[in-house]
Amino acid sequence: MDSRIAFSVVFYILSAVLMLCAVKGFTSPKKIGKAVALVDLSLIPPMIGNLIVINASFRLTAYIGYYIYFIGMDVMLFALVVFTNAYCSGTGDVSRKPTVMYYILAADALQMLLNPFFGHAFELDPIEVEDKIYYAFKVHFGQVIHRAACYTILGCVILMFILCTVQTVRIYRERLYVILASLLICAAWESYYIFTRTPIDRSMIGFGVFGILVFYFSIYYRPLRLLDRMLSTIAGNMPEALFVYDPNGKCIWANSRALELTGLTSRELDGVRQSLVKIFGEREYTTLDWSENRVIGSGSDTKYYSLENHFVSEDSESKHLVGSFLTIRDNTEEQRRLQRELYNSTHDSLTGLYTKQHLYECIRKQLIEDPDTEYSAVFIDVKNFKIVNDIFSTAFGDAALRQLADGIRLRMSDRCVYGRLAGDTFGVFLPSEVFKSQKEGIERALTAFKVSLGDVEHHLLIHLGVYEVTERDIDVSVMFDRAHLALSAINNNYKKHIAFYDKELRSKVLWEQQMTAGLSEAIQTGQIRPYLQPITDRDGKVVGAEALSRWIHPAHGFMSPAMFIPVFEKNGLIVEVDRHIWRCACEILSQWKGQHDGLFISVNISPKDFYFIDVVSEIRELVKEYGIDPAMLRIEITETVMMNEAEEKFKILRALRSEGFIVEMDDFGSGYSSLNLLKDMPVDVLKLDMKFLSDQQNDSKAQTIISNIIRLADELDITSLTEGVETAEQYQLLNRTGCKLFQGYYFAKPMPREEFESFAFGQNR
Ligand code: C2E
Ligand code: CA
Ligand code: CA
Repeated sequence: MDSRIAFSVVFYILSAVLMLCAVKGFTSPKKIGKAVALVDLSLIPPMIGNLIVINASFRLTAYIGYYIYFIGMDVMLFALVVFTNAYCSGTGDVSRKPTVMYYILAADALQMLLNPFFGHAFELDPIEVEDKIYYAFKVHFGQVIHRAACYTILGCVILMFILCTVQTVRIYRERLYVILASLLICAAWESYYIFTRTPIDRSMIGFGVFGILVFYFSIYYRPLRLLDRMLSTIAGNMPEALFVYDPNGKCIWANSRALELTGLTSRELDGVRQSLVKIFGEREYTTLDWSENRVIGSGSDTKYYSLENHFVSEDSESKHLVGSFLTIRDNTEEQRRLQRELYNSTHDSLTGLYTKQHLYECIRKQLIEDPDTEYSAVFIDVKNFKIVNDIFSTAFGDAALRQLADGIRLRMSDRCVYGRLAGDTFGVFLPSEVFKSQKEGIERALTAFKVSLGDVEHHLLIHLGVYEVTERDIDVSVMFDRAHLALSAINNNYKKHIAFYDKELRSKVLWEQQMTAGLSEAIQTGQIRPYLQPITDRDGKVVGAEALSRWIHPAHGFMSPAMFIPVFEKNGLIVEVDRHIWRCACEILSQWKGQHDGLFISVNISPKDFYFIDVVSEIRELVKEYGIDPAMLRIEITETVMMNEAEEKFKILRALRSEGFIVEMDDFGSGYSSLNLLKDMPVDVLKLDMKFLSDQQNDSKAQTIISNIIRLADELDITSLTEGVETAEQYQLLNRTGCKLFQGYYFAKPMPREEFESFAFGQNR
């Protein structure tokens, strides 16, 4: 056959295939796809050009063919540069463009296009080959430039490929070698064509094949060797043991974990089955897809495994099996950690008892599961535990808590749940009948609870607050709050260790809450205000008053201080009440100024005030603010204040006196202050309360005590004031004894300010 026809057919086929590749490349999601499409498309024009040349019977046709061929070469090289740049940059991304090469190619294409005008590049020369005329071309200067340009660019491309190959990891080089080799072959082939001057450019076949290779390696090729290596590395280092089986169930590969598990070497894979049976028992290890969790051994040697077997078929659709693989994961560590975490989250680390949260959870469950049993929540509190810690050591304190926890553990049956609530408090939840039957034993154990660490031994004072659960729906924490509240009933009763939450306690707590909630509004709106009780001299003339607070409550009406003062004494809010009364007293005094000078008002100072505020400076500021004489605001401090830190308190009293205030010692005789203390006490007035001193049965003795105190005060230059004077006899007797001031129902009860004013000023007029 005519070789011309044969090559034409080959060129047609190659062009069609390249076209197809270009389309595929263009639509490929890979970034390099567009560059591949460009290379494959650019290979078509030189081929078509050559096709035209070898089939041309006219000079013009051949001329056009050569043009397409030469210019096509430039375009092809341009495409090759674009592709190489993208390919060698790794990602197919071309941010750095080799622009110089583009200029060279563009310049060359331009000078070739000028050939029809100057004939400087080539001219056609008809020659006869195989009895047929071909239009070969004679080389001129421009053609030399064209070749030089083409070879330069081609050389650059090859160089880029070589550099890229050297820099690539060995395993990736495979594809580069193929592309590079085909490129070199094409270049050599092309050179051969140039120098043999046959019109048929056989190297075009090489370029066509090159285009197809480029397409394949860029778009489809996956480096299998690399994948193989990677997969085996991954499988080898997996945390699971991995066994790979052939379709007949023969183990053909096992990773190091698998070998470790079975105790085999890689040459002893035949023994895999037997080893697995020994560990996990008889079962079908290689057929079926299955998975299961296994627990092997017991106690601290328990091991946890999860096993999974999978089949591998030839491809996703076919059912043709190529083998199976079994993975075995050792979950022991993880399981232990989970168990440890669970234990830690539910148990107190010091005592090993349940934590509060976990205890509450268990109680909630118990209440639901056992709806017919009556339960009690018991709050266990170690008294003065801070002191135990302080005097002995925290180590001793810890030991005490641990021993107490052991004591609780020892006494409790399985129907009881218990735990540590906080620092030195524990909670027990148990059937009420169990608690009642054990109550005496528990009380006995509590009175004699001894803790020892080394040589040190100490009795702990332990109190139990009990809430018999009558409302099962309330929060468990509220149940223990109630049990805790019950403790307040024990107070300082040394014989009592167990207290129950009852209605009385409940209403007391509710009352306290109500008082507390209403306080600030009561102060702002004047619901709480001072009542004034006159204080008279020996002639019965009013010389001053004591301010005593009253709460005119919107719901409870007139309230005496006994209903609310103790509540606020307990929670410290007494400071607010006192400040308010002091201010009211100052206001009244400032309004009396000028008209009724000389009348004083005594105000009460609670022991708690010294604890929370700087009493001296607050009172000093008040007096300054209202512009009153400090001597008109008398300060009543109860005797009990002196009981602790007496020297500190003396300092305060001295400070007050030096500011000009008159300090009165209130309720003298109610506490335990010795008469001896009296001589050091920096006070101006001693307030004796009849109620503490007079005793119906032993009136004469009381009289003696009172008279002696009054005389002693006199000698110490302290004015005596007796309050609670109810009868004329009392008044006369005291008067005779030498008492200077009097206060009591005999003269007047505490009364509202207006009433007091008409009482006192009317009398004084
Ligand atoms: P206190 O300071 O010893 O006040 C004297 C109490 O004796 C007053 O009771 C007064 O009404 C009462 N009283 C007066 N004369 C007689 C009498 O002839 N016979 C009897 N049986 N009682 C008489 P009140 O007003 O109920 O106050 C009770 C206590 O509440 C006061 O005792 C005082 O300790 C406290 N208190 C009252 N107001 C305040 C206050 O504003 N602040 C502070 N911290 N305590 C206050
Ligand atoms: Ca008083
Ligand atoms: Ca008093």
